[in-house]
Amino acid sequence: MNKRPVLGIVIPCYNEGEVLPVTAPVFADELDRLIAIGKVAEGSFILFVDDGSQDDTWQIICDLSRSNNAIKGIMQSRNRGQQSALLAGLLEAREMSDIVITTDCDGQNELAAMERMIDEYMAGSEIVYGVRRDRKSDSFFKRHSSSLFYKFVRLMGAEIIYNHADYRLVSRRVLDEFRDFEEVNIFLRGLFPLVGFKSSKVEYDVTKRVAGKTKYSTGKMMSFALDGITSFSIKPVRAFTILGFVVSIISIIGIIWTIVDYFCGNTVSGYASLMCVVCFMAGIQLLGIGVLGEYIGKIYMEVKGRPRFIIAERTENLENKDIEV
Ligand code: UDP
Ligand code: MG
Repeated sequence: MNKRPVLGIVIPCYNEGEVLPVTAPVFADELDRLIAIGKVAEGSFILFVDDGSQDDTWQIICDLSRSNNAIKGIMQSRNRGQQSALLAGLLEAREMSDIVITTDCDGQNELAAMERMIDEYMAGSEIVYGVRRDRKSDSFFKRHSSSLFYKFVRLMGAEIIYNHADYRLVSRRVLDEFRDFEEVNIFLRGLFPLVGFKSSKVEYDVTKRVAGKTKYSTGKMMSFALDGITSFSIKPVRAFTILGFVVSIISIIGIIWTIVDYFCGNTVSGYASLMCVVCFMAGIQLLGIGVLGEYIGKIYMEVKGRPRFIIAERTENLENKDIEV
């Protein structure tokens, strides 16, 4: 493993027309530096994945690729979300590189961490997880909701790395195995630990976005969190089975108690307590049905087996391929 690896940096972009002209040269300079100091081989590249942007993101990527051959791009046929864009980029880059690093295009992730990731790879790790040093740059809500999310997902039995998002290095070997994970519901930070192999962590700092706004609204974030929980664990369904069992036992005791009470002549009206029980039961049942629905929905999507991404266009410096599914 002492040969210099060819590095592919995969960067998803969604409506990042404001950000790309600022960050793309920074990425390109860092790649040149890594080549110059001999960390990675000539032929290393940056692959931008336009996730069906409505602004001029694709145009910017095409212009960049014409002026710098190390910059390449693919465009999704429509917006499918960051995870799908990352997947498209990872599988595209797999054929051309020994290692792939994924990061965001907004310049929030500390760039210098890439070199440390490559060092970890050279020392024998096949996956290197970028882990946030702290969450000072996040809003109060995002900081607390995300820490709750990691704890909850782990409690539910999915193996995810605390404070690791999608800033990571994976080797070609990992990607070769990863290709066989054919699920349609993709939650990459839960999938890579399942691939296995030797892994390590690298800490990095996060700064504020250089421009533009976050593409993750609160609603999108919640649905992403729900995906993370339900893609890797059936514990929520099991919890409802256990809850149903406990409530049934309590009901049997309640029925016996009511009958005994009736024969003892205590026919006191218990409207308030009755309403509480009815409301509580209705709430629990609806929640239970909702959880089951989530899983059935997931099965439905998997069974249909629709393509996880569709590449509509490639920059000229990527050889012409047919539209891939
Ligand atoms: N992104 C994407 N598709 C989407 C939403 C986001 O490709 O539907 C990209 C976005 O361009 C950015 C990365 O995913 O490069 C992370 O998004 P963002 O910075 O908005 O999220 P945050 O850092 O606020 O969590
Ligand atoms: Mg960001």
